[in-house]
Amino acid sequence: MTRQFKEDRLVVASHNPGKVREIADLLSPFGIALVSAAELGLPEPIEDGLTFQANAIIKAKAAAEQANLPALSDDSGLAVTALNGEPGIYSARWAGPEKDFQHAMQRIENELTGKSDRNATFVCALALAWPDDHIEVFEGTVAGALVWPPRGGRGFGYDPMFLPTGYDETFGEMAPDHKHKISHRADAFRQLVASCFSKT
Ligand code: IMP
Repeated sequence: MTRQFKEDRLVVASHNPGKVREIADLLSPFGIALVSAAELGLPEPIEDGLTFQANAIIKAKAAAEQANLPALSDDSGLAVTALNGEPGIYSARWAGPEKDFQHAMQRIENELTGKSDRNATFVCALALAWPDDHIEVFEGTVAGALVWPPRGGRGFGYDPMFLPTGYDETFGEMAPDHKHKISHRADAFRQLVASCFSKT
């Protein structure tokens, strides 16, 4: 049975400030005290899963166990259709240790040379783990097309080159409140909230 979240503290199992900020925005209506894995000084576990959900589970379980608190993780990335779903779970790694997303976006653009299909999907797996090993997992998506050159300085990661289907602003141009309504993370959050927060 789906477990309800009844606690008043939650670890955000991420060291990515862009994600922590978006998760804090999305959880703000619930009055939960959030602390990030980075603030707690928790080590980053090795993400050796082969799917978004597997990596989300690794991160949430590690943080819940180390902090002895419930922990919410997000594993997400950009799946480019003409690149057979790459960079996918390797989205962060394509930016290298210096986390250079200009470079990562340029690499996608280079690999799309000569290909007419510019479709891509952002995917977000959320895992909510408790210290007793119980876990709930959700996955959200948003479809779009890749533009070049990148547009806008908002958001993070690949946002400036992602134009969500049906809109004329990239995620890099869009107001954060708007992105939070339509993004892959928002989709996964709606499922999480409906399942685990509905009766709080
Ligand atoms: P993770 O920490 O391994 O899940 O890395 C996910 C990576 O996917 C991030 O570093 C970004 O590059 C990319 N990504 C995930 N969600 C978004 C988003 O909402 N906008 C832009 N890039 C994203």
